[in-house]
Amino acid sequence: MARIFCIANQKGGVGKTTTAVNLAAGLAHLGQRVLLVDLDPQGNATMGSGVDKRQLALSVYQVLLESATVEDARQRSPKGGYDVLGANRELAGAEVELVELERRHERLRGALKAVDAAYDFVLIDCPPSLSLLTLNGLCSAHGVIVPMQCEYFALEGLSDLVNTVRQVRSNLNKDLALIGLLRVMFDPRITLQQQVSEQLKSHFGDKVFNVVIPRNVRLAEAPSYGQPGVVFDPASKGAVAFVEFAREMVQRLG
Ligand code: ADP
Ligand code: MG
Repeated sequence: MARIFCIANQKGGVGKTTTAVNLAAGLAHLGQRVLLVDLDPQGNATMGSGVDKRQLALSVYQVLLESATVEDARQRSPKGGYDVLGANRELAGAEVELVELERRHERLRGALKAVDAAYDFVLIDCPPSLSLLTLNGLCSAHGVIVPMQCEYFALEGLSDLVNTVRQVRSNLNKDLALIGLLRVMFDPRITLQQQVSEQLKSHFGDKVFNVVIPRNVRLAEAPSYGQPGVVFDPASKGAVAFVEFAREMVQRLG
C-alpha cells in the first residue's frame, strides 16, 4: 500500500515544491518507489523533475476530469528515479470545471487507488491556496507535510492550515494526519530563526521533524537544470539534508 502525503502550505515561496521534488528523489535514492503528483498549475514540480510542462500530452488535469488514468498520464523523471504526474496552466481551469461535477473533491483519491500497489510513496505538491485542488490533495492523503521558514509570520498562517486539516479529517477524510513541520531555508546565524524554531518545537513537539533543511543555493539552482538538488549536487548541504529527511520519513513510518 502506498503512503500518500501532501506537501502543503497556503503561502507561496515557502519551499513546498523544493521539498516535494527533493523528498521524492531522496526516497527514490533509498530504494523507495515514488510517484510525485504536481497539483500546482505553475508546474514547477514537473519542470524541476525534468519533465517539460509545455509538452505534456496528458497531465493531472485529465486525471481530475476522469478522461485519463494515472497510468496513462504519468511520466518518468529522467534523472530523479521516480514517476511524475505532471501539471501545467491547463490545471487552472480544473478549479472552475470541477465545481460543477460530482465527487469534485474525491477525483484524485479515486485515481490514485488504481496505482496504489505500484508505489511505496505518493507525494502531492499542492498549490499555495486552500482551494479545490488542495482539497483533492488532502482528501487523497494519509498525512500532510508542512514546509515552513522560521520567520515571524510563519506561525500565523499555520493555524489556518492546521484548522483546515482538522476540518477535512472530521468531514471528508478521517485518515488525514498532520505528519510534521519541516523547517526549510534555515539559516542558524539568524537569531530570529533560532527563536521561531524553538517556539515551533515547544508548540508542536515531535510534530517538528528533526532534520532541518538549510538555505543552500544549489537547491535553488537545480530546477533550471531539470533535476532535483539531491541528484544535481548530491554532496551539497541541501541535498544531504533532504536525503536525511527521506530517511527520517521512512523511519517514522516504521
Ligand atoms: P513553493 O513551492 O512553496 O512556492 P519553492 O519550493 O518553489 O516554494 O521555493 C521558493 C524559492 O525558494 C525557489 O526559488 C526555490 O529555489 C528557493 N528555495 C527553496 N528551498 C530553498 C533552500 N533550502 N535554499 C535555497 N533556496 C531555496
Ligand atoms: Mg510550488
